Amino acid sequence: MDKMLSVVLPAYNEEQMIKKTSQVVGDLLEKEQIPYELVFVNDGSKDHTWEKILELKEERAHIKGVCFSRNFGKEGAVFAGIAQAEGDCIAVMDCDLQHPPETLIKMYRLWEDGYQVIEGVKASRGRESFIHKMFAKTFYSIISDATGIDMSRASDFKLMDRQAAEEFLKLPERNVFFRALSSWVGFKTTDVECDVQEREAGESEWSFKSLVQYAVNSITSFSAAP
Ligand code: UDP
Ligand code: MG
Repeated sequence: MDKMLSVVLPAYNEEQMIKKTSQVVGDLLEKEQIPYELVFVNDGSKDHTWEKILELKEERAHIKGVCFSRNFGKEGAVFAGIAQAEGDCIAVMDCDLQHPPETLIKMYRLWEDGYQVIEGVKASRGRESFIHKMFAKTFYSIISDATGIDMSRASDFKLMDRQAAEEFLKLPERNVFFRALSSWVGFKTTDVECDVQEREAGESEWSFKSLVQYAVNSITSFSAAP
């Protein structure tokens, strides 16, 4: 019997993507005969994301929904999704199909081969604004100076086995910087390269202010250097 994969999908104002993403990801996993559940976490969306998730539960099997009363930010949504996931392994991917679903299959196969944490690394950063690129560059050079880990190509697209996920959930750090922490827990780890796709609908919800906030939180929670 194949082992179950949970896919955690944090969703903030993704009403246009819930159905599409569940179709693309769910159909692919069915084709590959991988038992799965999709765990959507509505991170206090201001649109009809939650209603879309509830509708989806009526239409498809293997759908779970978690709903936050307000917007807590992606890191919190990821944490809650992992806590609800029941799979033998757990993947986290964006809900906007920017993380290629085929890579999810590669990750699952690597997990079957015995890897415990499989991290998606960006072959390219996709199309981002100049200011976003500059900001990312500065942010990652501060992070790598402070921690000694090169994170410039890191992403939040990952798959981990149950044991790694349990350890992750036990970490006392609540202001989690998911991208870095999984490399820190210390399991048998590997990378998969992927091309970050362009967003099909909706908008990136990261305002400049929230990016700065994310950067400051991440750096101070991951390093004592400041
Ligand atoms: N997201 C979230 N809470 C937030 C902001 C974003 O759960 O406060 C989700 C969003 O729905 C998406 C993922 O996190 O699934 C990445 O967000 P986005 O696409 O806006 O960021 P980018 O692709 O620019 O990194
Ligand atoms: Mg996106």
